[in-house]
Amino acid sequence: MSELTLSIIKPDAVAKGVIGEIVATFEKNGLKIAAMKMVHLSRREARGFYAVHRERPFFDSLTDFMSSGPAVVMVLSGAGAIGKNRELMGATNPAEAAAGTLRQRFATDIEKNAVHGSDAPETARTEIAYFFPELDIVNR
Ligand code: ATP
Ligand code: MG
Repeated sequence: MSELTLSIIKPDAVAKGVIGEIVATFEKNGLKIAAMKMVHLSRREARGFYAVHRERPFFDSLTDFMSSGPAVVMVLSGAGAIGKNRELMGATNPAEAAAGTLRQRFATDIEKNAVHGSDAPETARTEIAYFFPELDIVNR
């Protein structure tokens, strides 16, 4: 049974020129791209996306970073896509991320950590809907 999750290649990774390497990692590990677009979030859009974190001390800095340049938002599909994507990303803090994970390979620090991935089915649904109308998600 296929599952959907939202992935974001954050502005730090886009600036480093590693979109291709990140997408290749997903494809090599059995995740398919079901939707994809380039976005440059406004501060307001970034704050909306990360609203669950609004009480955290890093909220302003995080949302400034997320609106600092272009990002790539994708819907990934595959069996266990939510967990598989989290596994490929590695720990939030790249200093703790396992060797070979996307954050170990490409992150700068705990904030500028290259990628985002939904953490549960309910957040996947709301995060996907934040960026993509149902009709823009291909069936694969
Ligand atoms: P994401 O939600 O982006 O997939 P995550 O689930 O591993 O990452 P969360 O705890 O949900 O991490 O935090 C969301 C994002 O906020 C992190 O990816 C990171 O960019 C930023 N962040 C988390 N903790 C910190 C921190 N202590 N200082 C600065 N930024 C942080
Ligand atoms: Mg999270």
